[in-house]
Amino acid sequence: MNLLKSNCDRTANALISAYEAKQRIMDYVKPVQGREKINIRSALNRILDEDIISRINVPPCDNSAMDGYAIRSSDVPESGISTLQMIGTAFAGKPFDGQVDQGQCVRIMTGAKMPAGADAVVMQEDVQTKDDSITLTHHYKSGENVRYAGEDMRVGQTVLTTGTRITPAEIGLLASLGIPEVMVRRNLRVAFFSTGDELKSVGETLGDGDIYDSNRYTLFGMLKRLGVDLIDMGVIRDRQDDVRQVFIEASGIADAIITSGGVSVGEADYVKSTLDELGEMHFWRVAMKPGKPLAIGKLGNAFFFGLPGNPVSVMATFYQFVQPALKRMLGEKDGLELILSVPCMTRLAKQPGRLEYQRGILSHDPEGQLIVHSTGGQGSHVLTSMSRANCFIILPAESAGVEEGNLVQVQPFYGIT
Ligand code: AMP
Ligand code: MG
Repeated sequence: MNLLKSNCDRTANALISAYEAKQRIMDYVKPVQGREKINIRSALNRILDEDIISRINVPPCDNSAMDGYAIRSSDVPESGISTLQMIGTAFAGKPFDGQVDQGQCVRIMTGAKMPAGADAVVMQEDVQTKDDSITLTHHYKSGENVRYAGEDMRVGQTVLTTGTRITPAEIGLLASLGIPEVMVRRNLRVAFFSTGDELKSVGETLGDGDIYDSNRYTLFGMLKRLGVDLIDMGVIRDRQDDVRQVFIEASGIADAIITSGGVSVGEADYVKSTLDELGEMHFWRVAMKPGKPLAIGKLGNAFFFGLPGNPVSVMATFYQFVQPALKRMLGEKDGLELILSVPCMTRLAKQPGRLEYQRGILSHDPEGQLIVHSTGGQGSHVLTSMSRANCFIILPAESAGVEEGNLVQVQPFYGIT
């Protein structure tokens, strides 16, 4: 069922929960098609579009985990002293090509291939050496300090799956498999702009009643981190024609369009009406704070996210709705949503009714336990609250505030911002 077609969509007063808004958005957006093969370094932060199956064993052969001596464990009794004769040395990349026979051992370095006949490595620190012989005083089990071929990745093993975001670990893993290029999802092109007659860009002079546009800069940062291709379309004035023109332009070049401002019920709010006129418009009042009004829809083939104007609302709605939606459009697998339950050391005021994303500072108390404090003033225009915060404190709709010491749900910024 297309939830967006449900009968409350066109009702400007419809108030839906943040949970429902997220579900609706996630059901609405679709992954982009298209893929490209690129060098593994260029693939950092891109979404893998193939399963990676190992064609080699990693490590390729049994090798030593220590600097020491490769021995036959059967040469060393459970107790008592044994003496072995050293017949050569194995270096990483320069194997010893002989055979270790009874009573013999080979000096071996970390990462060096295990010599034939040896099945354990004795730590250097555990032996006495004299000329070409070593003496050891306790038993070593077969396999001790040996890293086996394929222990990390085996031939034929699926080591990465479609939809994985390529992080430094994945680049290293691909390199360790000897894979120079991978297939990734075509990147998303995301157009974004601010709306408002009062907005000036950095470098311009503020006139009476003006403010500097910050949303286009936070959006730049959030989108850049997400790794999508950015199309900054600037500040659009509150004129019907200007809004119409930029909508048409953006829908021709972008997979997703993000705007801020102009979705309230003010007289200069053209975003909703223009989306309705040129595309498909779903407008919700979401029972959340900050970020109540939200216009979602399509302009041509582009998905449209009309965010509120207040700077904190933009960031909160981006992280809660737009970022997960863009990840879905990118074909990225769902990751862990980290929500912690942490004692709140500040009294928090709240009216029941809307779910709130308050801004918090997560830290450790002297015993090392996680605690959270409020950043203070929670106005949706107070961008310093986002800058000081390292987490959202999520207060459910029905909450009527929090007393000092109460447990609250905390969503750390790490991983989402
Ligand atoms: P609006 O939804 O357009 O009425 O905007 C709501 C509030 O957010 C108003 O106080 C605007 O001045 C402010 N605002 C809108 N866009 C931006 C922006 N790009 N940067 C900073 N503040 C903004
Ligand atoms: Mg405005």
